[in-house]
Amino acid sequence: MKALVYHGASKKAWEEKPKPTLLESSDAIVKISKTTICGTDLHILKGDVPEVTDGRILGHEGVGIIEEVGTAVAEFKKGDHVLISCITACGKCSYCKKGMNSHCEKGGWVLGHLIDGTQAEYVRIPLADTSLYHIPADADEEALVMLSDILPTGFECGVINGEVQPGDVVAIIGAGPIGLATLLTAQFYTPAEIIMVDIDKTRLEVSKRFGATHIINSSTEDAVEAIMRLTNNKGVDVAIEAVGIPATFELCQTVIAPGGRIANVGVHGKSVSLHLETLWSKNITITTRLVDTVTTPMLLKTVMAKKLDASKLITHRFSLKDIMKAYEVFENAAKEKTLKVILTNE
Ligand SMILES: [Zn+2]
Ligand SMILES: [Zn+2]
Repeated sequence: MKALVYHGASKKAWEEKPKPTLLESSDAIVKISKTTICGTDLHILKGDVPEVTDGRILGHEGVGIIEEVGTAVAEFKKGDHVLISCITACGKCSYCKKGMNSHCEKGGWVLGHLIDGTQAEYVRIPLADTSLYHIPADADEEALVMLSDILPTGFECGVINGEVQPGDVVAIIGAGPIGLATLLTAQFYTPAEIIMVDIDKTRLEVSKRFGATHIINSSTEDAVEAIMRLTNNKGVDVAIEAVGIPATFELCQTVIAPGGRIANVGVHGKSVSLHLETLWSKNITITTRLVDTVTTPMLLKTVMAKKLDASKLITHRFSLKDIMKAYEVFENAAKEKTLKVILTNE
C-alpha cells in the first residue's frame, strides 16, 4: 500500500509500505476512505516531536471501512463504516475510567506518533472497540473527519475547560482550525460575545461568518487595548489560548476578568511567564488538557442533527495520492487560505 512516511525533520515521502496486519486480538484493520492533515503533523515535520521516528506513517484523523477485525473485537465487523478517534483508549485503565482517555495506559495519542497512522491506504487501530465509532448510514463522511480531533479538542480543552456559560464574554486567541472549532462549539452555550483574535485577515473574516461577534487583528491593532475597550475595561470571562506561544498566553492573562477562566488549548514548545503578581487576587482558574475525545458521541449527534456544521471547516480537497501537494497547501495556509484539507482514498 501507499503511505505518507516521516523520515526525520523536514523529510517525508509518499511511498510503498507493507499493508498493516492484525497484531493483537483487539485490533481492527481499517481501509481509509478520507483523512486530513493536522497542525500537529507540521510540528512533527519540524522535528518538534522526538518520539516520532524515521519510517513512521503520519496522521491521526480519518474515516474508513473495516477490512478485518481481531477475535476479541465485539462491536465492529468487516464492512462497517467507522470514525477513527485521534485518541486510542482501552476503556478499562484508571485514566480511562476517569474519562481521561488521552492518558490511557495502553493508548492515548499513539496514531501517527508512536505507531503508524492514518495518512495511508490502510491503518491498524488497536483497542478497536473503544477507539472507533460507528458512522450512521446517511452521514457526510467529510464532515465527520472533523470529529477525529479538532472538534473534540476545541470543545473539551477550550469550551468545557473554560466553562463557557450563557451570557459570558469569551475571547479566543487564534483563529486556525482549532480556534474555529472552539468558536463553533462555544455557541452551544450561547455566550453573549465571542471575540476572535488572530493576525490573519482571512481567518478573521471566516470567524465572523462562523459566529464571532468581534474580530481583532493583532498585527494591526493592540489586542489588549481593543479587548479592554470592548469590555468597558472589565476584561473577558473566558480566555481560550489556541496558538501555543508565550505572547498569546500572556494576552490571556492580561485580559482575564476577576473570576475568569483561562483555558489553554495550544501546544507549547517554550515556557511561559505566569503573572501571579497581578493574578493572585483575581479568583481565576487556569486549565490545561490533552483532548480525551469523550465528547465525540455527543458531537456526532449534533453534526447528524445539523446543529453543528463541521463541513464548513473544509477548504480544500485532494486525492490521497496527491498528499504531498496537500501538505504544501496546508503549510502555506495564509497564502492558500487553507483551513482543513480532505484527502480521499480513491
Ligand atoms: Zn490533530
Ligand atoms: Zn485506558
